[in-house]
Amino acid sequence: MSDYDFDLFVIGAGSGGVRAGRLAAQLGKRVGVAEESLPGGTCVVRGCVPKKFMVYGADYGASIKGASAYGWSVGDVSFDWPVLRDAIQKEVSRLSGIYSTILEKNGATLFRERAEFVDAHTVRLKKSGKTITAEKILIAVGGTPWAPGIKGAEHAIVSDDAFTLEKLPERVLIIGGGYIACEFAGIYAGLGVKTVQAYRGDRLLNGFDSEVRDEVGSVQANNGIDVKFNISPTEIKETTGGYIVSFDDGSKVGTDVVFMATGRKPNTAGLGLEHAGVEMDEGGAVKVDAQSKTTASNIYAVGDVTNRVNLTPVAIREAVAFIETAFKDNPTAYDHSDIASAVFTRPPVGTVGLSEDEARSKFGDDMTVYSTKFRPMKNTLSGSPQKFFMKLITQGKSEKVIGIHLVGDDSGEMIQALGICVKAGLTKADFDATCAVHPTIAEEIVTLKARD
Ligand code: NDP
Repeated sequence: MSDYDFDLFVIGAGSGGVRAGRLAAQLGKRVGVAEESLPGGTCVVRGCVPKKFMVYGADYGASIKGASAYGWSVGDVSFDWPVLRDAIQKEVSRLSGIYSTILEKNGATLFRERAEFVDAHTVRLKKSGKTITAEKILIAVGGTPWAPGIKGAEHAIVSDDAFTLEKLPERVLIIGGGYIACEFAGIYAGLGVKTVQAYRGDRLLNGFDSEVRDEVGSVQANNGIDVKFNISPTEIKETTGGYIVSFDDGSKVGTDVVFMATGRKPNTAGLGLEHAGVEMDEGGAVKVDAQSKTTASNIYAVGDVTNRVNLTPVAIREAVAFIETAFKDNPTAYDHSDIASAVFTRPPVGTVGLSEDEARSKFGDDMTVYSTKFRPMKNTLSGSPQKFFMKLITQGKSEKVIGIHLVGDDSGEMIQALGICVKAGLTKADFDATCAVHPTIAEEIVTLKARD
């Protein structure tokens, strides 16, 4: 046994940190974990989980609206935000409790306070002042919302604040065109809030397939969201009962809540990485090699703090690979290619593999695009104008499927299974050989025709 207090000390009890801490403890290692907030991290406490509940909340409203076409008589309905908010917070507390129990049941010690580096083998706990040594240290501190420092920026909320708002606003202005901006605009609009989304670019969801970006523009419009393109905010001014936000094109928008969804940054400020020989890139992300090792040989980092692919399941996979590398003598690099993901707009986006533009710049004309757009059966009776968009991209003569992009109901569910197909290297012929499940939306994926 080493002279260190712990074999592994994990800073941050989010998705990556908890998985690594639990697995190391199960191997019989002495594990300490520090968490300054609630165990569970961004995903469980102020991200994916409470957000998805809010999406469900908004979807219930849409279902009620569409129900009369299916024979239901629906009287006056209203939405009570505190009921949903408090139910979500109750569930978040339960889940967070499970995260600490998982660690403690497996023998890890959880310190509910902030830890900062003293040197490469030592951390100091902020509140108690305790100094702890460890043979290996894992940095899993995640990220935090970032907003531009415009005049009046202090009046804006960020995603961390959105789950506990005292009152549902009548009007909201969301700045940004990324994941969080698009998802929350859909949620607020669905909950009956007059929603404006202002984005500095000309198409939402930068980095996604171009047609998906167009479709998401339609999704937001169908939900009644007023999307304003090509504008950036310059000032937020408080007025009686709200705010006026000025933009660089001279326009102004009045609102009750300004929500900055302008990106996230790694949570490395004040962590003392310089005392441990851990280097960061210019954006503050911890630099790691393929096996998540930092520039200090006994220190590793996983998850959003490394700014590779900032998704919960990726942090978990990186944590599992770290355990193989650091404790099982099996150097393992998690393969970040072909990660399926979803954006929970209403309806959502599902995507895996290359976008059409990425495929075109890699393979030129040696690729084929299959796509379709149709009105899902459910929407024919309800009268919803929302269509389903589906695109499949193949490469070369073998027609290996290298990208799938969906926008429409249940895309998030479908893309998980389709991600297996892409990861497994299946071809269009494999899709064609698969019998349809009828009547479903998903059946269209096995009958797609090449785009003209
Ligand atoms: P994103 O990077 O997705 O979006 C940030 C948005 O803010 C972009 O539209 C960006 O514009 C805009 N922006 C940046 N700087 C400024 C500025 N100075 N003024 C005005 N606009 C600005 O970040 P998010 O915070 O939405 O999400 C962070 C990450 O979290 C995501 O990338 C994703 O990895 C993860 N996430 C995943 C979810 C999921 O899986 N469903 C849900 C939520 C988050 P531009 O596009 O022009 O750069």
